[in-house]
Amino acid sequence: MGIGKYRYLGSSKRNKVCETVKSIGVTESEIGERWDAAMDGIAQVRKQQYHSYLQSPDWNIKRSTVLERDKYKCRICGFGDKLQVHHLTYDRVYDESLYDLVTVCEDCHTLIHTLD
Ligand SMILES: [Zn+2]
Ligand SMILES: [Zn+2]
Repeated sequence: MGIGKYRYLGSSKRNKVCETVKSIGVTESEIGERWDAAMDGIAQVRKQQYHSYLQSPDWNIKRSTVLERDKYKCRICGFGDKLQVHHLTYDRVYDESLYDLVTVCEDCHTLIHTLD
């Protein structure tokens, strides 16, 4: 099984990673392959999990609540086209408070992430 470079993490960190990985439902050898492929396996998995979260009904409810609170206007430029919801922090991702989220338009959103 190809756990590759991932094995050099050391066993305590590996166990930690394994716990996280198992809770996401990916096998250790899958994570190993991704680790080798991306040099950052866990971030890859999180990205996928995050991606599917953005399709979930939970997220949809939060998203529309935030849009409504912000009166369907970008909090940066004030325009109301191509609106998206941005995370001010990822600390509570999947269990965000509405204060962690702001409405932004696509252009401002791209800008924020470019400055990141
Ligand atoms: Zn904007
Ligand atoms: Zn964002």
